[in-house]
Amino acid sequence: MTDRRRRVMLKLSGEAFGGGALGVNPDVVSALAREIAQAAQDVEVAIVVGGGNFFRGAELSQRGMDRGRADYMGMLGTVMNSLALQDFLEQAGAETRVQSAIEMTQVAEPYIPRRAERHLEKGRVVIFGAGAGLPYFSTDTVAAQRALEIGADVVLVAKNGVDGVYSDDPRINPAAEKIDEISYQEALQRGLKVVDSTAFSLCMDNGMPMQVFGMEPEGNVTAAILGASLGTIVRN
Ligand code: UDP
Repeated sequence: MTDRRRRVMLKLSGEAFGGGALGVNPDVVSALAREIAQAAQDVEVAIVVGGGNFFRGAELSQRGMDRGRADYMGMLGTVMNSLALQDFLEQAGAETRVQSAIEMTQVAEPYIPRRAERHLEKGRVVIFGAGAGLPYFSTDTVAAQRALEIGADVVLVAKNGVDGVYSDDPRINPAAEKIDEISYQEALQRGLKVVDSTAFSLCMDNGMPMQVFGMEPEGNVTAAILGASLGTIVRN
């Protein structure tokens, strides 16, 4: 019997894809894709991409849109990011599949967890688009849920501009200290913002560890996928 390979769920924020602007920045996404493709030679990689570079439902609803409809726009944004990432991953030599939680069979497979697992076993990178297909959810939560359903070993939360979990907001408090390892319970008691609360409780209740790390410098994403102890580990 062969050893089971490491299987990770990588959560990428949409904001990173835009490089700070609306839409997709091809330079950013291709650099990211090269890092992922390199690590995917040895590790099974599933990915959930956010959509914050296009639309966030909560923000649009504050400006007068119906929340559900705005959230669907948000989810469609994640599909565009998924296709961009798929393209650059394939240019970097990785085999990929996109599975969408909202059916659109011309552009992506439907979300079929068992099939996703087969793709991973065959060495394909699987990108989950359209979030959970449900308004009022975030892509953080989807990353946690999909990680549990496909039996990932860890949720890797790649952050932009910050390299882990801190004792306080490092952009506001220069005395904030980086935490290497913390339990879900303690993070909760100390009110530390790691991911949103639904994602957090799903991981805590089901014993799924999370690793929060910075996407910079170059090489970090590859290293994290391969198992380097970068950033902050959160577990029970
Ligand atoms: N969204 C949703 N349900 C989901 C996932 C996402 O309604 O299951 C919508 C929601 O409006 C969210 C947007 O898609 O604001 C983009 O996702 P998210 O904010 O999680 O992206 P990120 O902040 O990671 O870029």
